[in-house]
Amino acid sequence: MRSESAVTVKGLCKRFGSFTAVDHIDFTVRKGEIFGFLGANGAGKTTTIRMLCGLLRPSEGVGKVAGFDIMTDTEMIKTRIGYMSQKFSLYDDLTIMENISFFGGLYGLSARELGKRGREVIEWAGLAGMERRITSTLAGGWKQRLALGTALLHEPEIIFLDEPTAGVDPVSRRNFWKIIQEIAHRGVTVFVTTHYLDEAEYCHSIRLMDRGRIIAAGAPEELKKEVITEKMYQMETDQPARAVHILKTLQDISGASLLGIKINILTDLPEQELKQMVLEKMSAEEIRVESLEPVDPTLEDVFIRLIK
Ligand code: ATP
Repeated sequence: MRSESAVTVKGLCKRFGSFTAVDHIDFTVRKGEIFGFLGANGAGKTTTIRMLCGLLRPSEGVGKVAGFDIMTDTEMIKTRIGYMSQKFSLYDDLTIMENISFFGGLYGLSARELGKRGREVIEWAGLAGMERRITSTLAGGWKQRLALGTALLHEPEIIFLDEPTAGVDPVSRRNFWKIIQEIAHRGVTVFVTTHYLDEAEYCHSIRLMDRGRIIAAGAPEELKKEVITEKMYQMETDQPARAVHILKTLQDISGASLLGIKINILTDLPEQELKQMVLEKMSAEEIRVESLEPVDPTLEDVFIRLIK
């Protein structure tokens, strides 16, 4: 039977001396999904990717990538995957076309394949006419597309993207996610790390890592339902800092936090009761409430709660 999973790992572990960077993690990535691997700097995301790509030997555990064993079949794995590292791995002093030729050679493409795939990648990345530009002169968003294009030259089954949007402007980030969705649509499994939580909403399934361990797993909507069991409201007032302080003292409110000038409130109370209670309290404290409305939790709310 053909396997439906692109990646599986069990008890995967990486120690550097006495320090455990990845601490017995288990997960499965289904074929064709966008799998998001999240966590703060140093959580162990890059170390995990490097083990899956055959670039770093695990200290312990078992795993398969594209059907091959991560301990013994690393050379086979490398032919089936694409990898875009944090620094985009491009050669800045080469032209766009030279970068494509270099990576095509690395992936073992014949001259004919390289000609064909190189053209496709150039067109796809919107770089037609710019083939002779020196890579260092490209803006971040273009460079990012070129790096992704080179990682896709050999038509891999799985692509590993390590913080592909770090340091890229918001418009390019959004466009990049459209491309990622397109790639997944074509059946390529996408394994992506990010620390931008808004981006995690694009993923079909996510894992949150904290100090080497997976502390949450599931689809974004599932995680929100599981972790935030209360209702969430957002309030605006003329004195947010004071208001949040007061809300924290109220018994029926399980959480109150300041987000910019807005206050997030978590409670099990029905909407009318909450509104009445908060409005009365704020009025007694001479705080003007400008709005108080239910909102959906974001992944950021989920992670703040989990990491607490
Ligand atoms: P970032 O977004 O900063 O890359 P990350 O989640 O990818 O974060 P890793 O790069 O996997 O984190 O690093 C996890 C931990 O392992 C960090 O504390 C890092 O300093 C440590 N580490 C990584 N590689 C090595 C190494 N070769 N030797 C020793 N420690 C290492």
